[in-house]
Amino acid sequence: YNDRDGYIWMDGQLVPWREANVHILSHAMHYASSVFEGERAYNGNIFLSRKHSERLRFSGDEIDMPIPYTVDEIEAAKYEVLKANNLTDAYVRAVAWRGSGEDMGVSSARNPVRMAVAAWEWGAYYGDSKMKGAKLDISKWKRPSPETAPVHAKAAGLYMICTTSKHAAEAKGCSDALFMDYRGYVAEATGANIFFVKDGEVHTPLADAFLNGLTRQTVIGMLKDRQVKVHERHIDPGEMEGMQQCWLTGTAAEVTPVGQIGDYSFEVGAMTRDIAEDYEKLVRQ
Ligand code: PMP
Repeated sequence: YNDRDGYIWMDGQLVPWREANVHILSHAMHYASSVFEGERAYNGNIFLSRKHSERLRFSGDEIDMPIPYTVDEIEAAKYEVLKANNLTDAYVRAVAWRGSGEDMGVSSARNPVRMAVAAWEWGAYYGDSKMKGAKLDISKWKRPSPETAPVHAKAAGLYMICTTSKHAAEAKGCSDALFMDYRGYVAEATGANIFFVKDGEVHTPLADAFLNGLTRQTVIGMLKDRQVKVHERHIDPGEMEGMQQCWLTGTAAEVTPVGQIGDYSFEVGAMTRDIAEDYEKLVRQ
């Protein structure tokens, strides 16, 4: 991703893509002082753009790294990047981090908080077979307790075990991994939330120990509009045996059907397809 034409917004201005570099002694590189957003633009509009900007600022506050830009300034930066790169349908990545400066230890109060926004074309997150049903591995790692880490922030430090879990999944021919939480309940995938269907009703893990995704919240609203009963609750992994359908939600993943998790299988049923179609329509409205 480093050798491309185009522009990236960095600390208030557009810089050529290849020159958007940081110093090796950036605090973020050593201590994971970094938060980010993943967003999608459809027909030139970033879906839930302000909510993403607000969440970026919230994530910064959660790791004691106040972001030196207002929501309006972040909004302007994102649209400036889309325009400069001639993009209408794109993935937008905003990132803020502690740079290099006075401090090289764990404490970083005197180092600048920096921010960048990049955007590029990014198709189906789980590849072309998106509607066939993704295969998920079960991660050996657990999502941490809210007493262990700022679990509601979209903070880079929380992704260390996402990358390792996803690598392990890919090595087994799976496209992603499902995490249990610190109590052993079903939590989320490495970059998406999870839903199950049983006898026409929907069950999804209570978002008390992981990112309450904006797509998750949107899909719950869509289900309620369709008069579908949604149970947000703790789900034991053994309950997956009785679930008939399953899908993932996320900005990148959108609504992706799941066909298999470990030894459990699911059908790509009508409700999954309906919700995936409704979501596709909604984001382009
Ligand atoms: N969980 C994790 C760990 C994620 O990275 C994401 C993607 N941001 C999600 C859930 C889904 O969040 P959203 O729907 O806001 O993209």
